[in-house]
Amino acid sequence: FSTSASLEEPIAPAVEVQHSKLLINGKFVDSASGKTFPTLDPRNGEVIAHVAEGDAEDIDRAVLAARKAFDEGPWPRMSAYERSRIILKFADLVEKHNDELAALETWDNGKPYEQAAKSEVPMFVRLFHYYAGWADKIHGLTVPADGPHQVQVLHEPIGVAGQIIPWNFPLLMFAWKVGPALACGNTIVLKTAEQTPLTALYVAKLFHEAGLPPGVLNIVSGFGPTAGAALASHMDVDKLAFTGSTETGKVVLELAAKSNLKPVTLELGGKSPFIICEDADIDKAVELAHFALFFNQGQCCCAASRTFVHERVYDEFVEKAKARAMKRVVGDPYKKGVEQGPQIDSEQFNKVLKYIKSGVESNATLECGGERFGSKGYFIQPTVFSNVQDNMLIAEDEIFGPVQTILKFNDINEVIQRANKTRYGLAAGVFTRNIDTANTVSRALKAGTVWVNCFDVFDAAIPFGGYKMSGIGREKGIYSLNNYLQVKAVVTPLKNAAW
Ligand code: NAD
Repeated sequence: FSTSASLEEPIAPAVEVQHSKLLINGKFVDSASGKTFPTLDPRNGEVIAHVAEGDAEDIDRAVLAARKAFDEGPWPRMSAYERSRIILKFADLVEKHNDELAALETWDNGKPYEQAAKSEVPMFVRLFHYYAGWADKIHGLTVPADGPHQVQVLHEPIGVAGQIIPWNFPLLMFAWKVGPALACGNTIVLKTAEQTPLTALYVAKLFHEAGLPPGVLNIVSGFGPTAGAALASHMDVDKLAFTGSTETGKVVLELAAKSNLKPVTLELGGKSPFIICEDADIDKAVELAHFALFFNQGQCCCAASRTFVHERVYDEFVEKAKARAMKRVVGDPYKKGVEQGPQIDSEQFNKVLKYIKSGVESNATLECGGERFGSKGYFIQPTVFSNVQDNMLIAEDEIFGPVQTILKFNDINEVIQRANKTRYGLAAGVFTRNIDTANTVSRALKAGTVWVNCFDVFDAAIPFGGYKMSGIGREKGIYSLNNYLQVKAVVTPLKNAAW
């Protein structure tokens, strides 16, 4: 594995942690208990900062502030244009802080700085521009009803939104959740992942500088079973949006049901198939399949973690996939040219290594990698397995790490069946030069996104979400707005209906 990039100088600006308290009602405050927890640098396990640890009492305070801001505050009553202007101003402020914010994201998460600076922060900004554009275009309908009645259908904000986000894309998950909720006029309590609390606090501060009224966006750092569970089961939260594991998704759905039956959207795990047909340009397919799996250290819910390759091109593909993985540049994510940084924490690091061991024990062929990379931090060598069978654990479970599993197929109908034989249905890909194959496969796959001759193409306007146990509902695009709106029918008799 290449380490040549580590010879280069760091390319990110120096950054300091400015905010580590909870943000409630527009102010940074200590947690009610006074407790803090450390957030760690995944490159070496060292403490970056001690962050206020929110718990049920802090969730109560934050929900109260959000409730007040919704029921009495200006936000839902402002003109949609005014809301749009504040969101746009915020996005412009973030754009000005692009590099500093990307540097902080890399520090807390371990992702390559170049990825954060050139892709993720710009996508964050784009997303807020997109939803600012929606704010003054959300409106209801007048519908024709039988009989002499006028029927108006109003689209109203739903109220206080509880949002729980994961650590793999801290900024983008913030944007996917906060953008549509605010555009619709809601107020928010957002719980960040305990591994990555820092960038949400940074951008939330900028939001207030842009004119967001206090209480509209509250950020509570803390752990899942305490702060997260308190939010999911809160009686005064009107809607819950969650991204994370399927296991935890089930927990929060149950908490929502057992409390006030708040509606829940879930964006959960995946085991996405990527089908490489025999007519594919192999070099391009190898590169794309490599990116589709290894991007973000393999920590993507939609990672192409089952690469199905046609038997006629299988051996060539495996050889080239191995060569590509061995060239992958692993190292300090702040350095130029680094493609892969560390996994997020020791728990994920150990979990991925356990899956690699299971692959070896189940007699898949370990083509390369399989070990930790270096001697400190949570780096793992890019790993490729061939001769993977459908019933192996590494082909069934979400590994969430840099482990490519390559399976063989010989017939398109057979591979469609196998690709669909999973509890997940988040995303899928097909690589072919044949338009009929592309059309057949993309219609047959049970997945919320199918990428044809591409992968991981994200856009603020494209809906994202899962079939089956990959989730409930869609985020991004126009679809996300429905998650944050109530629909009210207003029926009025028409007196002079004869006209
Ligand atoms: P997780 O689902 O437990 O955590 C996601 C979020 O949920 C975090 O903010 C966490 O604090 C919160 N949470 C945890 N328990 C909760 C509870 N009881 N009530 C309310 N909120 C709770 O995920 P994890 O433990 O960080 O990672 C485990 C696995 O989840 C990973 O290995 C990966 O397979 C998967 N994962 C998926 C995604 C995704 O984008 N779909 C993101 C992160 C992790």
